[in-house]
Amino acid sequence: MTNAAKPCPICRKPRTPDNAPFCSTRCRDRDLSQWFGDGYAVPGRPALPEEIAAEVIAGKED
Ligand SMILES: [Zn+2]
Repeated sequence: MTNAAKPCPICRKPRTPDNAPFCSTRCRDRDLSQWFGDGYAVPGRPALPEEIAAEVIAGKED
């Protein structure tokens, strides 16, 4: 085992600094399109609109 950079998560080729953590803009774009599809389970999901609304209501004391 080495501390070498992990490979591109899309195609497993060595990543490049310019496109890290991907190997190319193509893989980066592919990853982005997966985010907008349902190819990914979002680990740190963004707050849901109703959660944001609840916070706004909770913070409003008058
Ligand atoms: Zn790649």
